[in-house]
Amino acid sequence: MGGYKTWLREGNYIAGAWVNADSGETIDVTNPATGDVIGTIPKSGTAETARAIDAASAAFPDFAATDLMSRVSLLWKLHDALMDNQADLAKLLTVEMGKPLPEAMGEIAIGAQYVRWFAEEARRAKGEIVPPGVNGRRILVTRHPVGVVGMITPWNFPSSMLARKLAPALSVGCTVVAKPATQTPYSGLAWAALAEEVGYPKGVVNIVTGSASQIGGEIMARPEVRKVTFTGSTEIGKLLIRQSADTVKKVSMELGGNAPFIVFDDADLDAAVEGAMVSKFRNAGQTCVCANRLYVQAGIHDAFVAKLAEKTAALKVGDGTQGGVEQGPMVDMQAVEKVEEFVSDARAKGGEVAVGGSRHALGGSFFEPTVITGATQDMMFATDEIFGPLAPVFKFETEAEVIAMANATEFGLACYAYTSDIARVFRLNEGLEYGMIGINSGLITTPEAPFGGVKESGMGKEGGSQGLDDYLDTKYVCIDGL
Ligand code: ADP
Repeated sequence: MGGYKTWLREGNYIAGAWVNADSGETIDVTNPATGDVIGTIPKSGTAETARAIDAASAAFPDFAATDLMSRVSLLWKLHDALMDNQADLAKLLTVEMGKPLPEAMGEIAIGAQYVRWFAEEARRAKGEIVPPGVNGRRILVTRHPVGVVGMITPWNFPSSMLARKLAPALSVGCTVVAKPATQTPYSGLAWAALAEEVGYPKGVVNIVTGSASQIGGEIMARPEVRKVTFTGSTEIGKLLIRQSADTVKKVSMELGGNAPFIVFDDADLDAAVEGAMVSKFRNAGQTCVCANRLYVQAGIHDAFVAKLAEKTAALKVGDGTQGGVEQGPMVDMQAVEKVEEFVSDARAKGGEVAVGGSRHALGGSFFEPTVITGATQDMMFATDEIFGPLAPVFKFETEAEVIAMANATEFGLACYAYTSDIARVFRLNEGLEYGMIGINSGLITTPEAPFGGVKESGMGKEGGSQGLDDYLDTKYVCIDGL
């Protein structure tokens, strides 16, 4: 073997063993660029998940009691294993998901950075000694791993979404049951292969593939699972939050977004176009922080649209494994149909297609990079997440008007603004109801910062010092009478 197939594992990883579904049934996994079946995965359900939770529960006390530095050292090894195999892991990611290879290389690298970040942060998971209100007492606040953590991840960043969950969990001594997305399971299963290679004890990392409702249902039902971390749609996130109530689990939710990308007259035009391109077309527009609505002030509007259209038309579309490709296929035909719906809705309401607008000549799930001008607040993309390579441009006049339009959504994940006015930057920080704000930057994800949304975009943070909080419980000890 060798190459990316080294990391293509077609089994569940439970209690340190690679196993099939009890029924022996499998699900085909296809390459969205070619339609070829690249392998199968077990079609598992409740029983397999129950065993994975049993294994994680059994492994928890010993793993939580390991020396901090032994867990840190395992994460260092995991980081190195990722980077030593970056090219193969990236190829695997591209083959199952479609994104261009350079983006897949970047995803593996940022995942490795999260691993290293949490190896460092775990060493700073400090408690507190608090001044007591009355003399004679001592108040200690200590922090402890929550226990077994359930993780459910999406297909758009199948490797790094798990990195941001696995690394903090493992760093503080939690054990894990993870379910990767069915479309892109191999980048998730590769984490189990890496964990095995670097020497994690059996049962610490378990990964199960198959029926989302059965695997998710078991994870949510079992009291031993003390925390669930989910990245995916708002709809499923809400379902999981409801399901978490019966066992009162901690939940962190990384849900949908509807990012406004605001360009003011005082912006650097070239930088704004560059930022819009990367924010909009990275991963073929399939990221939860993608620019969803481009609001451009009247004075810079025409120049911005001209440049954006020119650059969009020049994007090279193709199979992500091929050199020079900047946009791969969409994940599946359903995603294509959704973008088509956005285009026809906008057209019907007076929008103008400046570039693209149709399925790509390459066929399959390839879609043309698209720019629509004359966008208005009554069009579908004003409220719904596009999740595709479509950039709608809205024209606006005043700062107050654009802040109101930007906030007119139940989502609150990422937003972006281009301006050279520092006073405006502070007003935007105060006025925009978003968990993350990119000023003069279209690409803001980084391990040092807390990634996460407000409103219906979710709760909990990934990265930053805050990224550990959800994996730790605090205990308060009151010492009196001594
Ligand atoms: P996306 O639009 O990214 O596919 P989903 O929310 O549908 O978003 O999927 C994200 C993850 O949630 C995937 O791993 C998917 O299999 C899983 N999922 C889907 N339905 C459920 C469910 N009922 N319970 C638990 N997980 C689910």
